[in-house]
Amino acid sequence: MDKLAEIRDFLAAYDGPPVHIMEVCGTHTAAVAKNGIPSLLSPSVHLISGPGCPVCVTVTDYIDRLVELAETPENVVVSFGDLLRVKGSGRSLAEAKARGAAVDMVYAPLQMLDLAEKDPGRNYIFAAVGFETTAPVYALLLEEADRRGLGNVQLLTSLKTMPRVIDWVCTDAPGRVDGFIAPGHVCAVTGYECYVPLAEKYGIPFVVSGFSGEQLLATIYRLVRLRGQAKVENLYRQVVKPAGNPAALAAIETYFEPCDAAWRGMGMIRGSGLVLRSRFRSRDAGSSGLDGDHAGEGCCCAQVLTGRIAPPQCPLFGKACTPQDPHGACMVSQEGSCYNYFITGRGADAR
Ligand code: SF4
Repeated sequence: MDKLAEIRDFLAAYDGPPVHIMEVCGTHTAAVAKNGIPSLLSPSVHLISGPGCPVCVTVTDYIDRLVELAETPENVVVSFGDLLRVKGSGRSLAEAKARGAAVDMVYAPLQMLDLAEKDPGRNYIFAAVGFETTAPVYALLLEEADRRGLGNVQLLTSLKTMPRVIDWVCTDAPGRVDGFIAPGHVCAVTGYECYVPLAEKYGIPFVVSGFSGEQLLATIYRLVRLRGQAKVENLYRQVVKPAGNPAALAAIETYFEPCDAAWRGMGMIRGSGLVLRSRFRSRDAGSSGLDGDHAGEGCCCAQVLTGRIAPPQCPLFGKACTPQDPHGACMVSQEGSCYNYFITGRGADAR
């Protein structure tokens, strides 16, 4: 029997103590759904989605500020598509755009520079959300804006970092998570040595995973095998090195410094964000103090993002909240757990 078949058989037949495994990367959330991973696991192996989708963890104050900027005549707000449909306490960017606000969508932040160059009379502001993965891209954007002499380029940042929020999840409900699928894209930048202190603090394993179905199954297999052990393993060796990517880390270090950050459903988490260093303040469109979060009535995104409930346990799931008409952020993004539960039909008994 080959190794993959052995892994599949083990995970399907596992009848040991229940194992709760959390993924904290939106791309993993989508890959788990796309590959039908839950259907391959025994009822004793539970997958939980954590706070790994950047759009989902963004607070409403931040969206409100983007809308305010977009409705100011001299500005254009530029964003990835997913963020456009996330509601603030009032309008989403898409709704503001429909009322005449200046909002553009791009697939890569650097596309904004061409827009800004052709339109020097207006200020172009990128909605810079994301984790350690995208922070180097924003650093590159500002470096390139300087090189091209574009003074009309700014960021509104809501950048997050992973280790502190994982610490928060473990502290919030000790024992809820028996092991983490460590985020492959983030670890490509940061490496995985930063997870060793967390593994030791909580006595749980972390395994860095790639994104194919086979890689995810192998990662879940290792996490089940390592249950109760403070171990960090890397199964994404072709991309992730122990100490990460030095060039990307240097870019982050040049442009950003750690800050406290507000997370949807979790509030302020000390040292869990990145903000532009003071010498780049002229490139900041007013990112500080955007801490308030005012979820819509009945929205359970906070509980979903922290693994307290599975998406179908939200009373709005599939009724007042669908991908066509999302009520909460977790149903908007293709990396959101509610979106992925909905499109794959994972039900109330979903694992
Ligand atoms: Fe939030 Fe909608 Fe998910 Fe409920 S179903 S948790 S409202 S995204």
